[in-house]
Amino acid sequence: MANKLETVPINDWGFFHLPPRPCVIAGPCSAETEEQVLTTAEGLKAVGINVFRAGIWKPRTHPGCFEGVGVPGLKWLQKVKAQYGMKVCTEVASSRHVFECLKYGVDMVWLGARTTANPFLVQEIAEALRDTDLPVLVKNPVNPDIDLWIGALERLNREGIKKLGVIHRGVSSSEKIKYRNAPHWEMAVELRSRYPEIPIFCDPSHIAGKREYLAELSQRAMDLGLEGLMVESHCDPSCALSDAAQQLTPAALIALLESLTVRDAATADEAFNEALSRLRAQIDVIDENLVYALASRMKVSHEIGELKKAGKVAIVQAGRWDQVLEKVRASARANGIDPEFVVRIFNTIHDASVAEQNK
Ligand code: PEP
Ligand code: MN
Repeated sequence: MANKLETVPINDWGFFHLPPRPCVIAGPCSAETEEQVLTTAEGLKAVGINVFRAGIWKPRTHPGCFEGVGVPGLKWLQKVKAQYGMKVCTEVASSRHVFECLKYGVDMVWLGARTTANPFLVQEIAEALRDTDLPVLVKNPVNPDIDLWIGALERLNREGIKKLGVIHRGVSSSEKIKYRNAPHWEMAVELRSRYPEIPIFCDPSHIAGKREYLAELSQRAMDLGLEGLMVESHCDPSCALSDAAQQLTPAALIALLESLTVRDAATADEAFNEALSRLRAQIDVIDENLVYALASRMKVSHEIGELKKAGKVAIVQAGRWDQVLEKVRASARANGIDPEFVVRIFNTIHDASVAEQNK
């Protein structure tokens, strides 16, 4: 049973304004030096980014890797606020992190994927944030468990945190995939349908693991109607102490954002809505007819099967299917649609037909 969440709309956080999408959060994976933080922030501010991220405490798989600069980095974030007027945010993984962030005026925090997977930590953080007005973004857990994700939102909300959002950053996978973390868009879609009031960000950087995949993932997030993007950006990615392969310079980030096609899911334009619903009604009828035609075809195919059985003839006859495909290809061309698209559909229909005759 879904518990209701009492939330404040994202436009009232004082950070973002929708439309237009996406709301963007950008900044380095990790704060490394004061110079790196300020140079990156300057570059981002110059291209119109107003919300800056930087990891201060980094959850690393192996000890001895760069684990973040800790509290000194919070002073650099204060300078980002003072010099560039940006809002600043970082990841918290314990109550101590929350108290340090509050002390140094961090504007927003997020829970990392490993933290969301741990209800003890989420509870501790929620209690530390009680009576503050900080927006909190919750990344999906490392495993594809939507209830853990929602449970974290509930824990925060029960402690009075109302400025809530989520971040989809993909899920660890034991299979070899092209991305660092497998996107589970269905989790975002499910969350959207259960809690339409919760803004959803996508973190293409941690899904991708590599710069080259950031654009396709960001576009997908926009196509799904997600509100925001959190993208890692570094003034000199080649020197980054963590996640070097997935970070973008501020200039590359703005190029990526400009390359996105963003369509709004809904509009108040009545004439548009009316035209859209008329066309959708047409599509619905055509779809119904397609199913009807498929059912009729299947019936005939069944009869052919019976006939072949009676005549002791093999189900698949060489040459016959090639002739069918040639005809539909020609017909597709004559009707101005891609013949190979039609061939793919007919091959699927044929497979089902053969299965029917084999019954
Ligand atoms: C990060 O945002 O820097 C980070 C560590 O992300 P995640 O929790 O998604 O791994
Ligand atoms: Mn990172």
